[in-house]
Amino acid sequence: ILQLYGPLNAFGSSYRSLQKNFIDMEKMLDLFKEPVEIQDLPNAKPLVMAKGDVVFENVSFGYNPMYPNLKSVSFTIPHGKKLALVGPSGGGKSTILRLLFRFYDPTVGRILIDGQDIRTVTQTSLRRRIGIVPQDTSLFNETIGYNIGYGKIGQDHAQVFDPSRSAIVRRRSTCSESSDNGDGSGVGPRRVLMSGKPAKPTRSRKNKHGSPSSSPETHGITEGDDDADVEVDATDYADDEDWEDDGRIQAAAEAARIHEIISRFPDGYATRVGERGMRLSGGEKQRVAIARTILKNPPILLLDEATSALDTQTEREIQNSIESISKDRTTLMIAHRLSTIVDADEILVIQKGQIAEHGSHEELMRAGGIYAAMWMQQLREDRTPTSSSHSSQKDSS
Ligand code: ATP
Repeated sequence: ILQLYGPLNAFGSSYRSLQKNFIDMEKMLDLFKEPVEIQDLPNAKPLVMAKGDVVFENVSFGYNPMYPNLKSVSFTIPHGKKLALVGPSGGGKSTILRLLFRFYDPTVGRILIDGQDIRTVTQTSLRRRIGIVPQDTSLFNETIGYNIGYGKIGQDHAQVFDPSRSAIVRRRSTCSESSDNGDGSGVGPRRVLMSGKPAKPTRSRKNKHGSPSSSPETHGITEGDDDADVEVDATDYADDEDWEDDGRIQAAAEAARIHEIISRFPDGYATRVGERGMRLSGGEKQRVAIARTILKNPPILLLDEATSALDTQTEREIQNSIESISKDRTTLMIAHRLSTIVDADEILVIQKGQIAEHGSHEELMRAGGIYAAMWMQQLREDRTPTSSSHSSQKDSS
């Protein structure tokens, strides 16, 4: 046994060292998976919004350039029209939204807004013009009024790109997107309009360079005010007595069909939500996101319909509020329940990174292809009493 001990021990340590090397290699490969930070070109200009026409021109992209996740995707959304993306899980729908928001750049092809390649414009000006209603909305550990008013300041853009992030974000003492006026100077007049006199957030802390430090929730994503007309920063008004409710938050909540629910909360708009306050349901949180977006008033809208089962009433309410915000805005929507996109101007079926079918609901039904099969499948599931009445494509794919 003693004779065997030496070789076995040597084998054990070689194995452990090999294993460690594999783990190190895995970690290194993981690092490559991190998104490359998108930089503004040195001569980047602010996006000039005319109408809000969006064009994807022969766009290909791969998270790993060796394996394309999108292949030669081309489509146009004329301003004010609604384009819906449907298709099996992993097909590339969210990737299309991420590229339009310029979280990544296409490997091949171009994305144009009103004729401008989005690679050539500043990220702040681009993101300022795009509103996002994610599947699962982040809430600050703050009042409901604050959470809706945040729409005027910026959105938690990270959420739409990384659904694995927590639904609740602790309110941070710094807020990089809102402290930047768009030119990177981190300065600008501040004014916040809140409803229900919620607790005042604390003043933002700036780092030694005078610029606001960012938190993990906001890294790399900034939402500056590149226009002089709107300057709002929830983190910079602690001593500002000019802090008032001009009714816009309530109006947004009404349009998002959430005002009535808020009125029933113990302290109305001053009710604290989030980790240490009231918990909102998925449907309520999505309506908060819709109210935020109404306040932000962007010409382009990205919507990711919730996959979670909602009761019929809630679903109708959400659908109504989505209809009211997408009206007259260029809208790109990921749909999981096909019944919600019957009226879309165009539907793209995205499968394996490609546009497998496109057309209106009627055209696609007549074609009798993938979309028609998906529709029939959802119809069957809706009629089956044992299955969820709102099963998503994820379930059926
Ligand atoms: P779902 O309906 O499930 O949300 P989807 O159609 O939106 O799916 P995407 O999220 O766009 O699909 O994913 C397209 C492909 O890209 C999938 O194969 C997915 O695994 C891969 N993918 C998505 N995000 C990343 C990432 N950050 N790094 C590497 N691969 C990714």
